[in-house]
Amino acid sequence: MALDASIVYLNGEFLPLNQAKVSVMDRGFLFGDGVYEVIPVYGGRPLRLDEHMERLASSLRGIRITPPLSNAEWASIFSRLIQGAHDQSIYLHVTRGVAPKRDHAIPPDIEPTVFAMCTPIAPLPVDGIRTITVDDIRWDWCHIKAITLLSNVLLRQEAIDRGCTEAILVRDGYAIEGAASNLFVLVDGVLVTPPKSNELLPGITRDLVLELAAQHGIPASERRITLQELKTAPEVWMTSSTREIMPVIELDGAPVGSGSPGPAWQRMQGLYQDYKEILRRPS
Ligand code: PMP
Repeated sequence: MALDASIVYLNGEFLPLNQAKVSVMDRGFLFGDGVYEVIPVYGGRPLRLDEHMERLASSLRGIRITPPLSNAEWASIFSRLIQGAHDQSIYLHVTRGVAPKRDHAIPPDIEPTVFAMCTPIAPLPVDGIRTITVDDIRWDWCHIKAITLLSNVLLRQEAIDRGCTEAILVRDGYAIEGAASNLFVLVDGVLVTPPKSNELLPGITRDLVLELAAQHGIPASERRITLQELKTAPEVWMTSSTREIMPVIELDGAPVGSGSPGPAWQRMQGLYQDYKEILRRPS
């Protein structure tokens, strides 16, 4: 099915994507004033739905938008958008809404704009990705999943311009996360990822990887990663809902470890794929 003919949700209506229109006075358009979520769906079932809804609630609270819908209302929208059993992802987006004039101040009684769509997830390359390190030029509230993504866009593009897939953002000598992914490195046999803070997005895939590590006796630690540790790690991974666990095979032009996905990644990849398979199975 052509994407522009697929059915999306906008402000209480289900309609074809090419008919879904938003006012130019929407504060999402004018200020990037909104938040979003991306939820992978396997076998028709959203992965970690409760966790995604909790993060949405936290992002909304963070930017002072009252939740426009209950979790039950969201779930019923998702069940109408999810088509078939193929791998797909739900994208949902809440902006502050349409204001009578362009003014930074938040107008009282404004109704949020609520949008959701479902799109197929492309198969993943698992032969490893190339990355660069860049200065983290973002703001101080990176724990909020804000639609305002200009720095992430520019940093990701810098990676692409240099023949890479992802940029690893470095702040004050510490590796924080990717432009649109979380970061794991192997240090002395321990899987290390930075702790949750305002410096990074609390990734749902990150948490799942930590949970799988705990369940299977893989040593893991949540602590800061120095640039030196990143540069000398035998394995580096980047995680996100749609790209899952990406092994990094090159960092700033130098090979990571042997220059191919490492054994720790192979193991975690197996555990993650098994976890997805269970979701796909009819209960
Ligand atoms: N960090 C950033 C900046 C991101 O944009 C994303 C994905 N959107 C992630 C981390 C990964 O989060 P998740 O695993 O929930 O997709």
